[in-house]
Order: sequence, then C-alpha cells, then structure tokens
Amino acid sequence: MGSKRLAQALCNAQRGSRFFMSIQDLAIELPAPKPLRLGEASLFLDLDGTLAPIAARPQDVRPDPSRTCLLERLVDATDGRLAVVSGRALCDVDRILEGCVVPVAAVHGLVMRDPLGRLIEAAPHPGLPRAVAELSAFAARDSGLIVEDKGLSVALHFRLAAPYSDAARAFAREVAAGTGLALQEGDMVEELRTPGPSKGDSVRRFMDMPPFAGAMPIFVGDDATDEDGFEAAGALGGMGVAVGRHRAVNAHYRLAGVEAALAWLEAAL
Ligand SMILES: [Mg+2]
Repeated sequence: MGSKRLAQALCNAQRGSRFFMSIQDLAIELPAPKPLRLGEASLFLDLDGTLAPIAARPQDVRPDPSRTCLLERLVDATDGRLAVVSGRALCDVDRILEGCVVPVAAVHGLVMRDPLGRLIEAAPHPGLPRAVAELSAFAARDSGLIVEDKGLSVALHFRLAAPYSDAARAFAREVAAGTGLALQEGDMVEELRTPGPSKGDSVRRFMDMPPFAGAMPIFVGDDATDEDGFEAAGALGGMGVAVGRHRAVNAHYRLAGVEAALAWLEAAL
C-alpha cells in the first residue's frame, strides 16, 4: 500500500469514518504482481493453498493432469528453475504432482531434493514418537481430528473438528514444550517439527546452486509457513507473492487464490 493511501486509511479510522479499515485490512492489501517473466525468474512454489485448493483432509488432494502439465511447461520454460517448497512429506508432493518437479523442499525445508535428485535430510528429533502417540491419543476423541505423521514432523489437523481448534492448539503447545519439538502453526493445523531448516533456508540453498543461482527468486505461498520464504526471496533481490487472504507480512504482491495463481503462472508461458 502506498504511504498516501495508508495515511488516508488511518485518518479515516481515527475519524470513525464508515470507510474504517481495520489493521487486518491494512495488512492484507497488496497489489497484484506484474506479468511474470520466466526468462529471469527462479520460481519457488508452495503446494497446498497455492497450486492446489485446500482440502478437508490432506489425503483428499489428488493429482490433476492440467496442473501437472502446467508445471512441466514451466519447468521447461525456466530451464529447470522451479522448485516446490511445501510442508508435505516428499512422497506426498510426488504423489500429488505426479513426480513432475525434481527440486523439492518438503516438510517445511527439513527434506530437500536438489535438481540432480540428491536428498538432503535432517535427522528426526527423538521426541517425535512420543509426540505422535500423544497427538494420536488426543485425536481419538473425534473422527475429524487427523494426525499426519511425516517422519520428521507430526501434524494435528482440525479443519473437520473446528470446535476442538482451541483445545488442539493448546494441546500441541503442551506437547511441543514437553518434547522439545518446534511448533509450527498453520491454517487449521498445528505441527510439531524437528527443529531445523525452514522454507526460507531452502530458498537460500537452492539459490546457491545451478540452475537457480543468478535468477530472481519469486516465492509464491498462501500462509504463515511461507513467511520466511517470502522474506528470503525479498532479501535475495526477488519477491514474495501471497495467495488468498493470508495476513502476509513479508510478501510484496497478492493473488486472490489458487485459480488466480495458476492463471498468473500460465499467462507467462
Ligand atoms: Mg500452503
């Protein structure tokens, strides 16, 4: 938002004007990105909420031939400067994207597959088995509570059990404190992860290697877990593009949702 508009919005708010704009509105107002120039870009794309609509259960997100085809064309057009940076396990990214992207940062950066297909993986934290057991015991109270064991992290999803949201968040905090795992809050999910590299660290690591190095990093993502990806892209001379309504702090631009994100990518081809 330009400084003039921000000043006007604050002025309206102070007057109690009917044009009152909340702090949340101020935070989410970002311009649409300019047309993408693939010849100059290194693309870092989140998966859920960015390339694929959020589903009620993580396993409900399935392969989509038109998305796979789009990604294959983008990989070609960027000479391979496209990485998927997701909170999902690597096998799940490959399942949904039909293995069409080699460079992937999975589990929020704890697992990285480089452009040559080599794996770099953090060692699992010793507190994970206990966290899986405790979250599973908690989830037993409602079939809408879903525990997803990703090996290096464990997620408790409550999109289908909204009345348990507060209790689930509080319980996840307790388990994190008891096990030493890092807590990662997401959209209707709490995740306990092995402390280690973030999505932003993955962007920095990819940008140090060919074919990514030297091009402008563009990180596209939809929620709080993408903030350090936006930040890293910006710090390296690129930009962050928020998707949907997330209250982005480090993003520079915004696209309205998954469809708009896919259309923006498609238009660059
Ligand atoms: Mg996402």
